[in-house]
Amino acid sequence: MEIELSAFVQNVCKKYGNDKSRLIDILWEFQDRFGCINGEMMDLIAKEISSYRIDVEGVVSFYSFFSKEQKGKIIIRLCNDIVDEHAGMKKIAETFSKELGIGIGKTSADGKFSLEYTSCIGMSDQAPAALVNDVVVTNLTAEKVREIVSSLKENMDPSKLVQQTGDGNNFHQLIHAMVNNNIRKRGEVLLAENITPNAGLTKALEKTPAEVLQEITDSKLRGCGGAGFSTGMKWKMASGFEAERRYVICNADEGEPGTFKDRVLLTERANLVIEGMTIAGYAIQSQFGILYLRAEYRYLRPYLEDVLETRRKAGLLGKNINGKTGFDFDIRIQLGAGAYICGEESALISSCEGLRGEPKNRPPFPVEKGYLNFPTVVNNVETFAHAARILDRGAIWFAGFGTEKSAGTKLISVSGDCERPGIYEVPFGIEVAELLKLAGADRPAIIQVSGPSGKMIGRTQLNRKICFEDLPCGGSFMTFSTDRNVLRIVENFLEFFIEESCGYCTPCRVGNTFLKQQIEKVMKGFASKDDLQYLKDLGQTMKMTSRCGLGTTSPNPVLSSLEHFPIVYSTLVKQENDGLEAGFNIQVALEESRRIAKRSSMIYDPVYAHNENE
Ligand code: SF4
Repeated sequence: MEIELSAFVQNVCKKYGNDKSRLIDILWEFQDRFGCINGEMMDLIAKEISSYRIDVEGVVSFYSFFSKEQKGKIIIRLCNDIVDEHAGMKKIAETFSKELGIGIGKTSADGKFSLEYTSCIGMSDQAPAALVNDVVVTNLTAEKVREIVSSLKENMDPSKLVQQTGDGNNFHQLIHAMVNNNIRKRGEVLLAENITPNAGLTKALEKTPAEVLQEITDSKLRGCGGAGFSTGMKWKMASGFEAERRYVICNADEGEPGTFKDRVLLTERANLVIEGMTIAGYAIQSQFGILYLRAEYRYLRPYLEDVLETRRKAGLLGKNINGKTGFDFDIRIQLGAGAYICGEESALISSCEGLRGEPKNRPPFPVEKGYLNFPTVVNNVETFAHAARILDRGAIWFAGFGTEKSAGTKLISVSGDCERPGIYEVPFGIEVAELLKLAGADRPAIIQVSGPSGKMIGRTQLNRKICFEDLPCGGSFMTFSTDRNVLRIVENFLEFFIEESCGYCTPCRVGNTFLKQQIEKVMKGFASKDDLQYLKDLGQTMKMTSRCGLGTTSPNPVLSSLEHFPIVYSTLVKQENDGLEAGFNIQVALEESRRIAKRSSMIYDPVYAHNENE
């Protein structure tokens, strides 16, 4: 076994050129083959790639899809975002647990199954959903769960769980998923039916790189991942730094709960996305592209690899692209390993470099020193697809959609309490009310715009416009009806941030836990007005002092719910600031002893006292 393992380590590391920047790929091979990456493996890997055990272990321990301990041959990951919770995930989890005979976070004694929760897997429009290894199972019911477990116990391959494929390209033999695209509204830019393949690239190559940069700038395209930075400016900056190499990275790590638009684009518009990356490569004079695919979308990888290979054969990737002498560009796929923070561009670059997905200090920004210290453009899947369309139809055409400062259309993933969850391509500037109407949300009470890191608004805000000037939206739009609990939603979001914080800086690592404790205190009715002030102060401190976007946005659910749902808080807090700490409820604590002693409190339990005195 030792020789076998040693040979395996050598072969795998050699496959990746013994390059430590490919550590994530190397670790995947071990996780897949052995169900873990144990100490002996880490030692051997470190030796082969001229690294240190501690560095390898640091990476293994960072990503939730890697494990030092032996996992089951089949790992069932249950999506625990709030939409899945509302859709009945608790019952689904209990049924899995009962049928498998193991608790959450456990592996069966025969080593066959592991059962665990995971953060949003990008299927909120078909919740409750889970991953069975790489296979996505959607719209789960207790009955479906019993069937799934029964089949798996009879050694059925998880891929056979897909008896009926979803809509659109999900039927493609290289995808073969039960996932549905649920495209509810097609706009004219990304989801239009009449897009001419490679028209954008062909027209781009007729221009100089500088002209392409100008076209993108003139279109007013802004990054679609959430931050909204000018794409033209970003590309210009990256091309302006003298460098031996430049990189183009596509961020397909959409981990914001409630977001699934990039999943649909990769399924339905993969060529357009790759085309956009190629145009960026031409514009900034880069030869290398990386598509960073989140592990939850691993089922799309064979299809995406096929798209890349087909384009290579067609001369659309590789050397002298489309006959343009001297323009060489190719793309590799980097699979993530389960870490929300890798959606942050500098953390994503760290992950591509084979490191823990921790954000880097800025400046320098990635456009100057990004991947392996070379100028790097990182853009979202949707942004690259837009770029390809802009080069095809022109900047003026694109800027004709949307508003003054938010040009174009936006893909929005709608989920939660509505009749038609799914993908909507709408022009920027659409009112919240209109989108809710399109989605069939007839009792909207709480709307979470842009995911947990975004804003929570209520019914008084329905006339707000989705655009950078008013209410920015990175793509997630969750709607909750009147019977949902605002504070439980906030608590779920905080649980998510606690789980996903990389732990590097104190305000975020500790602050999210404190926020959650305080919210729980409010929910139990123990909080005072001072506690609400504490929530506000702590939230603001975290926003000012956290190192990256996760920590600066994680207090948003607390702060925006305090702003827009003050009554929910005020009805639960003690109205008097009597100076007493209400974290410990002495009356509840004494209840059992009172009952045993048959004593009561005239002050706190008048009914009981009255009965006893009779
Ligand atoms: S803010 Fe949070 S996620 Fe960002 S570096 Fe600090 S601990 Fe890590």
